[in-house]
Amino acid sequence: MEAATNARPVIIAGAGIAGLTAALAFASKGFPVKLFERAPALEEVGAGLQLSPNATRILDRLGVLARFRSKAVQPEAIELRRATDLTVIARMPLGAGAEARWGAPYLVAHRADLQAALLEQVATNPAIALRTGATVEGIAFTDSGITVSTPQENAAEQVQAALVVGADGVWSRLRGVIHPSGGSRFTGYVAWRAILPATPLRGAIPADRVSAFLHPRFHLIAYPVRAGSQINLVAFTKGGSLSRGWDNQADPAPLKDALERAAPALARLVEGAAPWTAWPLHVVDRRSAWFDSRGMVLVGDAAHAMTPFAAQGAAIAIEDAAVLADQISGQPGDIAVALSRYDKLRRPRIKRVARRGAFNRFVWHAWGPIAMSRDLVLRLRSEERLMSDFDWLYGWDASAPRQIS
Ligand SMILES: Cc1cc2nc3c(=O)[nH]c(=O)nc-3n(C[C@H](O)[C@H](O)[C@H](O)COP(=O)(O)OP(=O)(O)OC[C@H]3O[C@@H](n4cnc5c(N)ncnc54)[C@H](O)[C@@H]3O)c2cc1C
Repeated sequence: MEAATNARPVIIAGAGIAGLTAALAFASKGFPVKLFERAPALEEVGAGLQLSPNATRILDRLGVLARFRSKAVQPEAIELRRATDLTVIARMPLGAGAEARWGAPYLVAHRADLQAALLEQVATNPAIALRTGATVEGIAFTDSGITVSTPQENAAEQVQAALVVGADGVWSRLRGVIHPSGGSRFTGYVAWRAILPATPLRGAIPADRVSAFLHPRFHLIAYPVRAGSQINLVAFTKGGSLSRGWDNQADPAPLKDALERAAPALARLVEGAAPWTAWPLHVVDRRSAWFDSRGMVLVGDAAHAMTPFAAQGAAIAIEDAAVLADQISGQPGDIAVALSRYDKLRRPRIKRVARRGAFNRFVWHAWGPIAMSRDLVLRLRSEERLMSDFDWLYGWDASAPRQIS
């Protein structure tokens, strides 16, 4: 497959974080890209995102970081606190020290600010054609190539593709092309999200850091977004499945119930926040196939949606996009080999990140003697030791993807 402007395009389904980054990564390698998005317009959906250096490094190379850095916040630290009495259990410094250590900043931002920056950068690139209101519905592999169809008012539009990238999220339709029985699985956890103005919160929630409040029945993360003018709250509890979508407004009664034995300041904070949206946490079995060697591949949540307990879903989607474009451009003429190399490079990394998320959930929701040992171990751990535990994750560089320290 040649990277030439008159070649068949790379077709990407979905203009979320994964699809927009993939479009920029392929265009930066000289590929023409057609990006189809089902939504009629890309609206402000989602809430806060923590963006670790493994992701911001790639966004910087693609020219995106400068476009949203002033709207993001570089937190001074991540603090783990007991939700019952707000005692600090551990503090890992971030800020300039973390940027120097991992070669890129650790930022927190509103998802809409990141998406807007990606869209602005896409708009400056003539190699990328974005169509909204265009759902990718069918993919056919024939002797003459791959045909992608999107329905139009009167008839389906058919486009010939060199490669199809499914970046259509956790409820991916394109995943069914690769493995028809491959749905997502509800984890039994619900994420509750609310955004508040920062000013009245000063004192209760420090506005210069990421605070994680740990409790056997929930954990709550708070951090600044929108240049520090707002605080993003996200809490995780057990719960029943809900309808799918970012803007699922819901009565936070289960969250309030989980906070019964939490510090009064925290309970008041949750009580006063509104509206709460609820997001059912679904995962995709990461052992399933991600590609068809005839020229189709899944990235981001479509391939391996994971729980957000390591705050890495978007970061890993950004990594996927960069590694995929590198592998395809480095293996001209043999797409099957390139896709197989992509798969081999990504699986060990994604497995390790998903395991880290599962570990966080176990440790953060611990109770009794396990919680006491956790607090003791973390208190005795130096800041240097806490940071070095993340070198393999945040120090990872897409241009040397085998590097795992
Ligand atoms: C509560 C919560 C907190 C999180 N916090 C963090 C965090 O701090 N840090 C982090 O890195 N990650 C975090 N994540 C994970 C992160 O939000 C996701 O992993 C990431 O947004 C996935 O991006 P995506 O592009 O793969 O999918 P999506 O964002 O779901 O995008 C898919 C796009 O495809 C479109 N689409 C769907 N079907 C079609 C079709 N057939 N044709 C065309 N278009 C289609 C959709 O409309 C959508 O725009 C969090 C997730 C949750 C739920």
